[in-house]
Amino acid sequence: GLQRSTEDQLPRYVRVNTLKTSVEDAVDYLKRDGFAYQGQASRLEDLTLKAKSFLRDQHLPELLVFSPKMDFHDHFLYKAGHIILQDKASCLPAYLLNPPPGSHVIDACAAPGNKTSHLAAVMRNTGKLSAFDLDAKRLATMSTLLLRAGVTCTQLANQDFLKVDPDSPQYKDVEYILLDPSCSGSGMVCLRDNTSSDQEKDEARLASLASFQLRCLNHGLRFPRLKRLVYSTCSIHSQENEEVVTACLQQNPGFRLVPLLAQWPERGMEPLTQCLRASTTKTRTHGFFVALLEKHSETGKINL
Ligand code: SAM
Repeated sequence: GLQRSTEDQLPRYVRVNTLKTSVEDAVDYLKRDGFAYQGQASRLEDLTLKAKSFLRDQHLPELLVFSPKMDFHDHFLYKAGHIILQDKASCLPAYLLNPPPGSHVIDACAAPGNKTSHLAAVMRNTGKLSAFDLDAKRLATMSTLLLRAGVTCTQLANQDFLKVDPDSPQYKDVEYILLDPSCSGSGMVCLRDNTSSDQEKDEARLASLASFQLRCLNHGLRFPRLKRLVYSTCSIHSQENEEVVTACLQQNPGFRLVPLLAQWPERGMEPLTQCLRASTTKTRTHGFFVALLEKHSETGKINL
């Protein structure tokens, strides 16, 4: 059907796992394997690739772009954990949060762990990465993925993030949080024709997701040493995106939005243009939303 063909037209994105290799080495390996390297993309149209040609992405330095038909599941680089199959938009949160090596980071709703492994790569496997998820099965999948990716700085816990105590001494040094909570998934191209005909039921589901997302966001901001929190969804609904962030900022005046990637082609809905959106038409990705919240500088505060 129509939905299937739209999905097939999205490029195949591959994130190079810098815990195991470098972009240069991955590119060299692929060239020797018969792929034709086209250099770095410079515009959206470049992302339309044929057969075995590939590019480096123009926004994300560790991302390679292939034709929609490419399947890497049996490829050496995938099996060895040198590459991670991850949509471009879902690479934004860890890249934008950018926690320094050695820091303590929380991945609040982490499974199956693609963003966790990306965070670990940004942190160069140093410091501490506490990853929570409610779903034991998804956590099991996640530990396999992290093992293959060579991630060693994580502590996985089958725990409700909302019940993690921000004032526990265990979390006193947490400065960065990645929050990618359950959402409607309405941005996933393959799910788009699944919207039910029951509009009232859909509205109720969105309202309940949004209230959960806001609770997670408010909870994350309670960690005492927090500097930055990145919030993301694969939803196209403003109820789960801009509206959640707006409500959160009203309830937490100590935080503000960080303006993100000036060169990114799609912004959050007015007035939240500091945030990013992604879509098949404007970014050649699944539908996605990202906001980065930052604590106001505490300079000027008198410390007795
Ligand atoms: N960040 C993941 C990744 O990039 O691979 C995807 C996360 S998925 C969108 C949302 C996850 O939140 C699900 O795995 C779900 O089990 C988990 N979840 C839902 N409610 C939760 C809660 N209260 N505490 C922790 N995890 C929760």
